[in-house]
Amino acid sequence: MDCIFCKIANKEIKSELVHETDELFVIRDIDPQAPTHLLIIPKKHFRDLTECKETDLLGNMLITAATLAEKEGIAKSGFRTVVNTNEDGGQTVFHLHMHVLGGRPQTGRMG
Ligand code: 5GP
Ligand code: ZN
Repeated sequence: MDCIFCKIANKEIKSELVHETDELFVIRDIDPQAPTHLLIIPKKHFRDLTECKETDLLGNMLITAATLAEKEGIAKSGFRTVVNTNEDGGQTVFHLHMHVLGGRPQTGRMG
């Protein structure tokens, strides 16, 4: 399958990993929208949030967001977690992922 995040997961494309477990990995967004902009990505391919019914994985993605926000020093100042889904949600890479944005105020209550 021609999926950029699968290729990164399989190490077909080199990438600097911020964090890695058996089920997920974290990289910095190539086009950062904030001083800290991480992507939390399951190793298993799910096209989008509606395709994933794995409660442990989804929970671990949120816990990872909070843990890495603390590590990056943006937890106290604040951060935003975002999962874009399909066209109206602004999804551009169709492999489930969660954005973690921080280091500056996020303008607007919701994007
Ligand atoms: P989406 O719009 O699907 O929610 O987010 C996809 C994100 O992946 C975008 O913010 C985009 O900048 C990022 N991205 C796309 N290709 C790559 C890549 O090859 N490496 C990294 N690190 N980020 C990527
Ligand atoms: Zn994929």
